[in-house]
Amino acid sequence: MSRAVCLRCGAEKGAYDRICPACGHRPDGEGLLVAWLLSDDHLGGDALDTAAERIRGGMPLRPSEAMLQRARRALGLDATRDPGLPWPQRAALLVISLVLTPLVGLTCWFWWRGTRPRSATQAFWLSVPAGVLVWGGVIWIRLGGL
Ligand SMILES: [Zn+2]
Repeated sequence: MSRAVCLRCGAEKGAYDRICPACGHRPDGEGLLVAWLLSDDHLGGDALDTAAERIRGGMPLRPSEAMLQRARRALGLDATRDPGLPWPQRAALLVISLVLTPLVGLTCWFWWRGTRPRSATQAFWLSVPAGVLVWGGVIWIRLGGL
């Protein structure tokens, strides 16, 4: 049986992605990466106990970007495994960003940045220039450009 430590309360649980039996916390997004770092897939028995004690003592967890990247690779979430958005989705996102609002793309970027880094980057670069173009145009017209 595998072991993991709840990143919120430090209680022990069976697997890193399970709901904590003590506090009910279920890791998601970036938290899933930290949860994996707090499992026996990554830490040995003693290190896991030390981590649990630190969490119970209220010490903040600050995994380095290198550690998070290691977790992403282990969980198959790194950019090289994220195929990115297919062309129809990219086109739809661009049209939505131009016609409606670039907030849709920014929301996608926000949600995906931990788990689908390539898709998140694509969503960001499709929506931000579109937003700048549209709002720049609106402001230019408002200022009497036309
Ligand atoms: Zn917990």
